[in-house]
Amino acid sequence: NNSIILKNRPEGKPSMDNFHFKETEKPAAEEGEILLKAIYVSVDPYLRGRMRDEKSYIPPFKLDEPISSMIVAEVVESNNDNFKQGDFVSGMLEWKIFQTSNGEGLNIIDKELAPLSAYIGILGLTGITAYLGLEKIGKLKKGETLLVSGAAGAVGSVVGQIGKLKSCKVVGIAGSDEKIRTLQQKFNFDAGINYKDTEDMETSIAKACPDGVNVYFDNVGGEILDAAIANMNKYGRVINCGAISLYNAKEQPAGPRLETTLIKKSLSMQGFTVRDYFEDFPAAIKQLGEWLKNDKIEYEETIVEGFNQIPQAFIDLFEGKNKGKMIVKVA
Ligand code: NDP
Repeated sequence: NNSIILKNRPEGKPSMDNFHFKETEKPAAEEGEILLKAIYVSVDPYLRGRMRDEKSYIPPFKLDEPISSMIVAEVVESNNDNFKQGDFVSGMLEWKIFQTSNGEGLNIIDKELAPLSAYIGILGLTGITAYLGLEKIGKLKKGETLLVSGAAGAVGSVVGQIGKLKSCKVVGIAGSDEKIRTLQQKFNFDAGINYKDTEDMETSIAKACPDGVNVYFDNVGGEILDAAIANMNKYGRVINCGAISLYNAKEQPAGPRLETTLIKKSLSMQGFTVRDYFEDFPAAIKQLGEWLKNDKIEYEETIVEGFNQIPQAFIDLFEGKNKGKMIVKVA
């Protein structure tokens, strides 16, 4: 059995040196427990925050202990009446090939309804984040312009498609021409901006959004956020969902220097944490599931093979190597 532990805390960009692979005995399920084998492991940008020794909405990872994230696993042995051998579950689990659990916090998932990997992407936290961020804070209205950054990623690609389902004009920001093509051809976005090939984001956004921006779904923070705010219309809404451009920063940069922009335009800007809305998860999953079933929504996954590839897949998120949800398949 193998597990991956946090060896030391990254400074700046995470690297393989921050992780340690540890051989452990394969555990046995005691009375009331199940033995799980990991199948799909989610790697997510927010895990970078948990590697800092800092107070947040979720406690930091401890040094020399296994890292955890959302995992889809198979029940290979059960001494718990709520689970039987062969069930598939999803939940917050440790980066281990085999582990035991008392079942708390785990959901049994339906393999017939959607492929297993979907439960950590489109029907998991990232899909739910896209749906609830728009629903709770964006409050999109028909005909409005929706701008989204991190647009070719797991959350962003779903955000844009929901915008189209709500009859909005949708513009995405992502880091390559190939990703921009995917936004338009696969996800039905109206336009896209490759921020790596743009000198002046403020002007590029103005060109792509001639009627201004009503809702900005921010996954990246930093300078792109500043440029988006400059293009907001009166009563515009900014959803602060993520700030990946700052996750590896050693110091937080100043800004955004909003001066009087928020006042003049009556803008609202609100931080969003999906974990604040647990009670809305079933409704979100139901809606996403229906859209999926009726081919109203598409999703993309980058599936990397091999348990040992988990740390590298996580590191690659910061280089934009994923298209859609980054997932590791445990061989
Ligand atoms: P993604 O699938 O979007 O993967 C991350 C992407 O970020 C990369 O593919 C890359 O794409 C882009 N990126 C990396 N570095 C930068 C940078 N410096 N500037 C701009 N873009 C960059 O991840 P998720 O969909 O899982 O998450 C998206 C965001 O949403 C994250 O910020 C995450 O923390 C946040 N989030 C927040 C939640 C909440 O409850 N608030 C819940 C879930 C996610 P590219 O090629 O375009 O650069």
